[in-house]
Amino acid sequence: MSVNPELLKKDFPIFENNPGLVYLDNAATTQKPASVIRAVSNYYSTVNSNVHRGVYRISEEATELYENSRRKVSEFIGSSDPAQIVFLRNTTEAINLLSYTLGRKLKKGDEILLTEMEHHSNLIPWFFLREAGIVIRYARMKEDFTLDYEDFMNKLNPRTAIASFTHVSNVLGTINNVRELSRMCSENGTTSIVDAAQSVPHMPVDVSRIGCDYLAFSGHKMLAPAGIGVLYGRKNLLEEMPPFLGGGEMIGEVTYDGSTWAKVPWKFEAGTQNVEGAIGLSAAIDYLRSIGMDSVRNHERSMLDHILKIMHTVDDIKQFGPLDLNKRGGIFSFNIGDVKPFDLLSQATTKFAISHSIHPHDLAAFLDGRNIAIRSGHHCAMPLMGRIGVASTARISPYIYNDESELDLFFESLSACRKAIAR
Ligand code: PLP
Repeated sequence: MSVNPELLKKDFPIFENNPGLVYLDNAATTQKPASVIRAVSNYYSTVNSNVHRGVYRISEEATELYENSRRKVSEFIGSSDPAQIVFLRNTTEAINLLSYTLGRKLKKGDEILLTEMEHHSNLIPWFFLREAGIVIRYARMKEDFTLDYEDFMNKLNPRTAIASFTHVSNVLGTINNVRELSRMCSENGTTSIVDAAQSVPHMPVDVSRIGCDYLAFSGHKMLAPAGIGVLYGRKNLLEEMPPFLGGGEMIGEVTYDGSTWAKVPWKFEAGTQNVEGAIGLSAAIDYLRSIGMDSVRNHERSMLDHILKIMHTVDDIKQFGPLDLNKRGGIFSFNIGDVKPFDLLSQATTKFAISHSIHPHDLAAFLDGRNIAIRSGHHCAMPLMGRIGVASTARISPYIYNDESELDLFFESLSACRKAIAR
């Protein structure tokens, strides 16, 4: 099935309330279809109550909806058991959970392998472990903005306890072969973690095929409400791990002297949960499934194809991402300016080699005046900005409700911005 953005747009009230809005910041967060908003609203209007606690009807029904959502997420990402799905706030919280729980077992001198293209969410939680003498290493990115797999493999060694890598870069759009990376980790006895914040919303993702130990993503980037996210983990590993947050719900038996823990996944779900978020996520998965994740991926691929073709007609544009559509998701980061040569392979991470003739923030503000929402800045990936030799970029990230005419409008407005600034 091919995606029909014009038709899909009608499902999203934000577009009715903001006529003419061209929303191209989907890597940051996506809009919500009426079915998701309705699911959340229905929960509040019909069975609002705390889950797993009440022995009365509406609490049992709310619990059923919450746990149904877990089953749906499990199926959606190819996990064999809903107990492998932990509900958290977002990708950031999932990676913090892993850094805290797995980090407690590490010894001074142990290594964590990341890549040069990580979001701050997959950097900062690991930085916390430096205090305990843990060493952080980075697999390099190649000149074509793809990961250097040989470098990744060379950096895996007997001390590498954990490797955590993004599936799709939120700046470059690069799709990493996480199956291959997980295989390398497994052969080395290294725990593998996939940051799937930019992949689960955009393409079929199957954890059983990838073979990773853990995978994290956020609901709000895939049509669901904010505040609900998912950590997938192999059941035996989740069982071995200590809990993250302590409190109600995550316990077995508590005395004044101590406590036992609930079974997984509830051991990691302390306190009252985001029940409405989980229910909204379930509705979002229904919506995406009705389109088909292969169709979502194909649509974004054709959007990117269109972008890359027009891009060649724009003077002084510098884009940051692989040109091979098979290696790239729908994200397009770029700058307009004097692109001075810089040594991509140098270790320098603080050289800003591009002087912008249009600053990304100026461009974003100009486009906002035309009802076009794009992202500008460092995209929570400051080390990567340094690596590609810039302080910031502009970024567009289309989704299922965007069409080629909106991309054309974006490029026309880019030219208009340039003319306005030249005047
Ligand atoms: N990882 C990647 C690749 C991202 O793009 C983002 C958000 O943009 C995150 C992690 C963090 O997601 P969240 O803010 O939902 O925790």
